[in-house]
Amino acid sequence: MTRPAGETAPVTALPGVGQALAARLERLGIRTIAELLFHLPLRYQDRTRTTPIGELVAGQEAVVEANVEHVEVVRRRRRALVAHLADGTGGLTLRLFHFGARQQSQMTPGARLRLYGEARRGQVGLEMVHPEYHVLGQGTAPPLADALTPVYPATEGLGQAALRRVTGAALARLEQGELLADIAGPAVPGELPPLVEALRTVHRPPPGAAIAELAAGTHPACRRLAFEELLAHHASLRRLRQQARSQRAPALAGDAQLLARFRAGLPFALTPAQERAIGEILRDLAASHPMLRLLQGDVGSGKTVVAACAALAAIGTGWQGMLMAPTEVLAEQHYRTLADWLEPLGVRTGWLTGRLTAGARRQEVAAIAAGERDLVIGTHALFQRDVELPRLGLVIIDEQHRFGVHQRLALREKGDHGERVPHQLIMTATPIPRTLAMTAYADLDTSVIDALPPGRRPVKTAVVSAGRRAEVVERVAVACREGQQVYWVCPRIEEGESEGEGGRAGRAAIEAAEWLQAECPDLRVGVLHGRLRAREKEAEMARFQAGDSDVLVATTVIEVGVDVPNAALMVIENAELLGLSQLHQLRGRVGRGAHDSVCILLYEPPLSEHGRARLTTLRDTSDGFRIAERDLELRGPGEVLGTRQAGAMAFRIADPMRDAALLPRVRETADQLLAEDPAAVDALVQRWLGAGERYGEA
Ligand code: ADP
Ligand code: MG
Repeated sequence: MTRPAGETAPVTALPGVGQALAARLERLGIRTIAELLFHLPLRYQDRTRTTPIGELVAGQEAVVEANVEHVEVVRRRRRALVAHLADGTGGLTLRLFHFGARQQSQMTPGARLRLYGEARRGQVGLEMVHPEYHVLGQGTAPPLADALTPVYPATEGLGQAALRRVTGAALARLEQGELLADIAGPAVPGELPPLVEALRTVHRPPPGAAIAELAAGTHPACRRLAFEELLAHHASLRRLRQQARSQRAPALAGDAQLLARFRAGLPFALTPAQERAIGEILRDLAASHPMLRLLQGDVGSGKTVVAACAALAAIGTGWQGMLMAPTEVLAEQHYRTLADWLEPLGVRTGWLTGRLTAGARRQEVAAIAAGERDLVIGTHALFQRDVELPRLGLVIIDEQHRFGVHQRLALREKGDHGERVPHQLIMTATPIPRTLAMTAYADLDTSVIDALPPGRRPVKTAVVSAGRRAEVVERVAVACREGQQVYWVCPRIEEGESEGEGGRAGRAAIEAAEWLQAECPDLRVGVLHGRLRAREKEAEMARFQAGDSDVLVATTVIEVGVDVPNAALMVIENAELLGLSQLHQLRGRVGRGAHDSVCILLYEPPLSEHGRARLTTLRDTSDGFRIAERDLELRGPGEVLGTRQAGAMAFRIADPMRDAALLPRVRETADQLLAEDPAAVDALVQRWLGAGERYGEA
C-alpha cells in the first residue's frame, strides 16, 4: 500500500510551532505531526461536573464547590494555611503550604470556592493539598468544561496547556487528510472506528463520550488504537524471530556420556517437568539455527539444573557457554553451584563481575578469549565490549525480566565472528500469563517447569499490621532460638530515599537492623543492601549462608535466587509498597528446607482497597501463575515484566490482559502483513515503537 507523504511532516509545519517548541517536543521523542498524534493522553480529568463532597473518595480527582467554614494557619513541620470547607453533603480540608496575603484574604469564612484537585485521606476526613481553585462571586458560576480534559505525558518546559494546544493543531491538520495511512484498516474488527475517528476521540473526547470506558481503555476508540499497537509490537517481535530463524548457529549435539555422568552425580532425581524442559532445549540446541527459548518456572522449581544440562550440550560439542545473572549475589551463587556440579566433570568455569580488580579482570578476560573457559558466569560485566568468547555457542540469561529485549539481543553478538550466532536460553521465575507472553515474547519458544521438586511445603503467609510489630519480633526471636534463620526485608535503604505510593517512606534496612539488634541483643543481625560494596554484600550473604548470622535484614536485593534452606521465616516490611510478583519472589526464599515456613507481610495502615486485594491474593495462593495474572490486572504489563525502565515493553494504550480478545486477530494480521506487505510492518513499527524499536540494535 502507499503511504501519504504527510506521515513524515515535521511538527514545525503546524501553525504556532517554532524551533523552540519543536526542541521541547523532541525531548518527548516527537519530531513529526504523526508522532504528535500518537502521543496519547495518559488519562482524563473530568471537569465537566461537580462532585458532592459526600461522594468523594480518596484518590479521586474532582471538581468540588463548597463554602469556607473557618480558616487557620497551623505550624507543624511546615506552616500551612488550612481552610475547612463544607457543601452540605460533607466536609473537606484545603491545605496550602505556599500562601501569601492574597490567599489569606480569599479564604474568608462564607467565601464560595470551586476547586479541582485530588482528594486524599487526611488526619480528619478528606483533604486537598494545593488544588486549583478560584473564588466564585455572587450570582451564577462560570460554566464547567464541556469535554473531558486530556492529560498528556509531559516534560520540563512543556506543560499540559502547550500539549493541548499542539495536539489540537495536529488534529486540525489530520482532518485535512493525507496525513496518516490506515495501515491496519482492513484487518481491524468491524465494530471499531476508523483510525482518524479513533484518534480524534481519544485526544478530545466529545461531550457525552463514555467517560468510564475511555478511562478504562475499553472504549471502541481505545480498542482501535490498542489493536494497532499490539499489532506493531507483535509484528516487530515476529520479524525478529524470522530474522533469527534465518541465521545460522552451531549445532550443539552434546556428548551423551558427559550428560549421563552429570546426571548420575546429582543428589536428586530430575522431575518429569525438568526432564521435559531439558528434552525441548536439547532438541533445539542440536539444530543449526539459533534457539530462542524462554524457560519459565516458579521460584524454586529447579531451573538451574536445566541450565546446566543446556550448558553441557554446548561444552560437550566443544563450544563455550555463558550464564548471566542480574545481581552479584546471584551470579556468585550460580558460580558456586555450577562449579560444584561441573568442575568434577572437567568443565573449566570462569566468572566475571564488576567486583574483580582490574588485574584479575584482565586475566579472566584473556583466559576467556583464549578459549580456556568452557562456561563463564557473571553479571552485566559480561556485556562489556572487550569480553569475547571465540566459541560462544549458548547464552543463558537468568531472571530475564531485569534485562531489556535489546540487551538480550546484543548478547548474541558476543560470539558473532563468523556467520553463526549463539543459541539463547532465557530463564524467568516470573510466570508470564499466556496472553502477555504472546505479545511480550512472541519471538521466543517457551518451556515451562510446572511442578516443584517433591517434598516442598507451602509457605504459610500472614498479613499483619505494622502496629503488631512487637509480636512479630517476638516470633523472630523464638525462631532464632530454635536454630532457624530469618529474613527481614525492607523495601528501601534509607528513610525517604525514594517516596513510595502515597509518599510513605519505607523503613530503612539499616535502621531496622539497628532497631532489631537493640530489641534482641542476643541475636546476630546482619544487613544487606544495594549500597554495600560487592565484597561486603558477598561476605554478609556468606555469613548468613554459613549460619553465622541469625537474621538477615535486607532490601529487595535478595529477591532473586538466593538459597538458604535453614531460613524458614521471612518478614516483609511495607509489603503494601511492593508488587505481587516481587513479593512472591521474595517469599520463594523460604520454604526450601525441613521446617514449616512462614512469611509475614507487614503493612502500614491504612491499607488501600487495592493494597488489601494484593496482599490477600498473596496470602491465599502460592501459584505463581495466578499471582502474575492478578498482578497484571492490578498493575499492568510494564510493571510485571519489570522492563519499563529498559524501555522494551511499555504500551501506550494497549493492555494485553484487557485486550486479550483482540490478540488472535492481531496474530493473524501480523503474519499476513509480514508475508504480504513488509513495508507496512516497517511503517507500523515506526509509528508505535519509533526509535523505541531498539530491538534490533545493540
Ligand atoms: P529456581 O528455579 O528458583 O532457580 P533452583 O534451580 O535454585 O530453583 O532450585 C531450587 C532448589 O531445588 C535448589 O536447592 C536445587 O538444588 C533443588 N532442586 C532442583 N531440582 C530438584 C529436584 N528435581 N529434586 C530436588 N531438589 C531439586
Ligand atoms: Mg534461580
